[in-house]
Amino acid sequence: MKNSWLKIMTLLFSAVLLFSTLQVASAIKTEIIYTGTGGDVSKNYYIKKYTPRTQVTSEVFQAARKGTPMFTFGNGGGKKVIIVAGVHGNELPASIAAVKLINYLSGRNIRGTVYVVPFLIPSSTAKTYRYWKGKNPNSIANIRGTPTNRILQIALSRDVDAVGDFHSTRPGGVPGKTSILCTRIPTYESYRMAYQMSRYSGSAFIPAQVAGKDYPGALEDVCNLAGIPAVTAEVRSPHGSVASGSVTKSYTQMIGFLKYNGVI
Ligand SMILES: [Zn+2]
Repeated sequence: MKNSWLKIMTLLFSAVLLFSTLQVASAIKTEIIYTGTGGDVSKNYYIKKYTPRTQVTSEVFQAARKGTPMFTFGNGGGKKVIIVAGVHGNELPASIAAVKLINYLSGRNIRGTVYVVPFLIPSSTAKTYRYWKGKNPNSIANIRGTPTNRILQIALSRDVDAVGDFHSTRPGGVPGKTSILCTRIPTYESYRMAYQMSRYSGSAFIPAQVAGKDYPGALEDVCNLAGIPAVTAEVRSPHGSVASGSVTKSYTQMIGFLKYNGVI
């Protein structure tokens, strides 16, 4: 009698322990940083097809229905960095790579803080739509109240050390090749970071001289003008599609960004 009582208690204790471990594993720190942009990204054929089928991915999709979701990883020490994807809703490889990255970072110990925004405008990604209210989201980051400007505000208010904005570029487009873009002036750290990321990921290195000149209103430029080192990463893939190897390449660019900043 005494023995079976002990067994029951042990079993109960194990069950509680297992349950709490599962809870910890699936609880990602989630914030909705912009409302009115929510959408069901799983309606996008490529997003659904190429993202890992996990509980974490389901949580990401659920959050994206409410607005622009941001996921936070890390212990608060070290550098703070932000990874953004889905500025253009028809550029799918980077958003898929960002969801993979969220799966990778979940439950992992890192040195610093990583904010990941896998879908800046989920409603656009759901429809494979490039624009936001008819405008190019990457030309209005200098206008208050836009989704891209919200990233700048977050970077400023949380003392973010680096911003990585991940896109794709169609063959024949601009820049049309897998690459890392940056500017030398006024934030030279953008140039250093892009150079190392291009080496790490085997991407072309495309530096410009002064931020805000070639691409005024681009998230990268607006951050660099505000003194927050930023880069734009591109992988070659047709709009609204996923070229072979493009997700892996985008993911490698993200890992290069995190490694450069000493977070992983
Ligand atoms: Zn883009």
